[in-house]
Amino acid sequence: MNECLFCKISNKEIPSKIEYEDEEIVAFDDINPKAPVHILIVPKKHIPSVAESTKEDTELLGKMIIVAKKLAEEKGINESGYRLVFNTRKNAGQIVDHIHLHLLGGQKFGGMV
Ligand code: 5GP
Ligand code: ZN
Repeated sequence: MNECLFCKISNKEIPSKIEYEDEEIVAFDDINPKAPVHILIVPKKHIPSVAESTKEDTELLGKMIIVAKKLAEEKGINESGYRLVFNTRKNAGQIVDHIHLHLLGGQKFGGMV
């Protein structure tokens, strides 16, 4: 049985506020938002992190960025700007081991770290 949290969210075993969905990708609001807009863009395919992605995933990873862009436009943060983040493994503070892209916006951010 798959115990992965984001696999469970993507197959609707666990509810979330879904912002976008297609055959390959689901995007939903972060349960503990760090900014006025905080959406997680998640492929339905289980890939633990960027570190485990392969050349085969190139198109999928590109699609995640295009979904983020579309959501930024829909949320009205396209002009003001936004941050896209892939936390990867321990030092980056990755807590869910299913690759996800954070879309953060609606405020001004400080430095990179
Ligand atoms: P990470 O640190 O792994 O890059 O980020 C994981 C994110 O998932 C965190 O921002 C956290 O708030 C969010 N998160 C953790 N559990 C859940 C959940 O059950 N539902 C939703 N929607 N977000 C979650
Ligand atoms: Zn998973």
